[in-house]
Amino acid sequence: GVESSSPLPPPPPPPPPLPPRRGDVVSHRWLPSDRPKRELKFALESFWDEKITAEGLQKVAAELRVSIWKQISDAGIKYIPSNTFSFYDQVLDTTAMLGAVPDRYGYSGGEIGHDIYFSMARGNATQPAMEMTKWFDTNYHFIVPELSPSMKFSYGSRKAVSEYKEAKAIGIDTVPVLIGPVSYLLLSKPAKGVEKSFTTLSLLGQILPIYKEVIAELKEAGASWIQFDEPTLVLDLSSHQLEAFSYAYSELESSLSSLNAVIQTYFADVPAEAYKTVTALSSISGFGFDLVRGSQTLELIKSYFPAGKYLFAGVVDGRNIWANDIASSLCTLQALEAIVGRDKLVVSTSCSLLHTAVDLANESQLDDEIKSWLAFAAQKIVEVNTLARALAGQKDEQYFAANAAALASRRASPRVIDEEVRKAVAGLKGSDHRRAMSVGARLEEQQKKLSLPVLPTTTIGSFPRQISEEEYERALKEEMQKVVSLQEELDIDVLVHGEPERNDMVEYFGEQLSGFALLVNGWVQSYGSRCVKPPIIFGDVGRPRPMTVSWSTAAQGMTARPMKGMLTGPSRCSTGPLSETCYQIALAIKKEVEDLEAAGIQVIQIDEAALREGLPLRKSDQPSYLAWAVHAFRITNCAVKDSTQIHTHMCYSNFNEIIPSIMEMDADVVTIENSRSDEKLLAAFGGGGAVKYGGGIGPGVYDVHSPRVPEAAEIVGRIGKMAGLLDWRLLWVNPDCGLKTRRYSEVRPALANMVAAAKLLRVDL
Ligand code: GLN
Ligand code: ZN
Repeated sequence: GVESSSPLPPPPPPPPPLPPRRGDVVSHRWLPSDRPKRELKFALESFWDEKITAEGLQKVAAELRVSIWKQISDAGIKYIPSNTFSFYDQVLDTTAMLGAVPDRYGYSGGEIGHDIYFSMARGNATQPAMEMTKWFDTNYHFIVPELSPSMKFSYGSRKAVSEYKEAKAIGIDTVPVLIGPVSYLLLSKPAKGVEKSFTTLSLLGQILPIYKEVIAELKEAGASWIQFDEPTLVLDLSSHQLEAFSYAYSELESSLSSLNAVIQTYFADVPAEAYKTVTALSSISGFGFDLVRGSQTLELIKSYFPAGKYLFAGVVDGRNIWANDIASSLCTLQALEAIVGRDKLVVSTSCSLLHTAVDLANESQLDDEIKSWLAFAAQKIVEVNTLARALAGQKDEQYFAANAAALASRRASPRVIDEEVRKAVAGLKGSDHRRAMSVGARLEEQQKKLSLPVLPTTTIGSFPRQISEEEYERALKEEMQKVVSLQEELDIDVLVHGEPERNDMVEYFGEQLSGFALLVNGWVQSYGSRCVKPPIIFGDVGRPRPMTVSWSTAAQGMTARPMKGMLTGPSRCSTGPLSETCYQIALAIKKEVEDLEAAGIQVIQIDEAALREGLPLRKSDQPSYLAWAVHAFRITNCAVKDSTQIHTHMCYSNFNEIIPSIMEMDADVVTIENSRSDEKLLAAFGGGGAVKYGGGIGPGVYDVHSPRVPEAAEIVGRIGKMAGLLDWRLLWVNPDCGLKTRRYSEVRPALANMVAAAKLLRVDL
């Protein structure tokens, strides 16, 4: 037999090397404008104090931008954002871009300068600031645009273009980020006095021409991608609101031709209807989703994703400080790659890194074990790049192994587990913690001991601090004595110790509870130049020893009047999801409450300042959050005597939707921020709502966020209005919030006028 002489087929050529996908990556959205040491904060404040010039401020800002762009570029990131730097916030920047300046600031066209920009943010000598509110469910704030049908829009800030060019000049091609037109309008409010039928969305046709101008200039400057942030897509929107997206982006279609545009959403799942609407937009080349919060969007993508479009997959959490589980993220990405195609998948963070701390490298006081569990912004961009490289076949085995080891150590470390705390919490859950008597009966019991006049006066807690952090104990006691004497002199009924020992109301407790780690430079921007340093909860939370008792008893020893014990409630302390930790914190506070009571403190205030802030974005998620928050609060004081008066304080102006929950908390007295919001809301407490609230209520009678000192007559008017809406026998008289941001030259006359107003009214009652 003759073997076939046909030659063997040649061996297949080796597969071509994978295109390097290094940096096929991130949309980094908004980065922290500031650096770890808060250079921007200090420059801004110096500028406001006229210690540096506008040029000086610009110089600091430009250096910050360049260093951030370089850092991201060096990390291998491909889609590097620009126009994410802000002197105040990105919504205000958009207001400037659109020239949407309320009349009272005297804007008459042209490029908006610092004077008008900062007047809108902070007010000026003659005009108050615009309203500020929280950016979705974060602790970041934005200045709320005020729009009216007569608003004349004009291209008022070329910042997007100039930042793009600035980056280009150092050789970095960026993706300019704009807040999308629909979200901008949905986040705006109608100006005072406009017709009820007016909706801000009706101005869409008027702002699109400016977006077109901006896009055209960006194109001309060489931009090949533009990002539109449309985070309102994650909210419960009506079909009319959804149609606005279709309208806006079809109007922009010709402007966006020859350009790639990505629509970015974040902070929650995108509801199915919104997903359908947005993925149908033909002018858009890419869609960005938060794949960390909720799992529904992932399911939607798996069931349908438009062919040929890019997916910006937000798998690295932009809001926490924990190291990503990168093996698990890689699995998610691989599944997505099979759906959208390998060159259409972009690895990304779930949202802007503005909401996390800047760089772990600055945390000199954390030990290596805890550090290995963490990732701040600088580490998160490395995670993104590592994932992108792994997808491209360049898996960094060492990195993956170290990450797996860190996650395992976090799960198993004895430092995170406190059996005693876990047992105690298990015993607490599920039960109802109602105090024995109804709130009305309790107030009577308390009054027997406290003998307060009608319209009792009090303050929310903090007083301005006149000493530096360096002069400790002794100076603090002296400070406390001054605050106590001042309140006696002003004839306030229920006193506070002034909180001089506290840096920040959360950090202070974090320092004393076990399971918390403190950061040195872990600043996160809250608004404007204000930054906070949230503590990290890494393990079970316990209260090893009393935290505030010695301060409160010392202060009580200085006066015969009731001195409030001052605590921060569980919903403010716990930043994570509704987990075991929250109950642990509730239990730790419960111990403190009981120790304060045992030490003779008769009035204890447990601040739930941020109850509203933690409210989930979507209605369907809200009831369980509220039920939890109410339960956790009640745990803290369920065991005190009925004659001990429990106060709580809330500093959110938008509390109308949570009034029933506030009542459910069953505090004896609630003080709430009120002076900037509509007094009619208070009617709900007075009986207009489902339940008539029987507890004491102290709607703030003046605004502590303004240096203005209110006249007594003005406060009388305010209280009079409140007495019309609420039962005057239950009314308390107090400022809106703590006084720590004010000067004594403001605090003293304002409180004197407040007490005078209460006394004037008592005569008539
Ligand atoms: N007791 C705190 C204070 O007066 C409350 C602060 C707040 O509500 N944010 O400072
Ligand atoms: Zn407050």
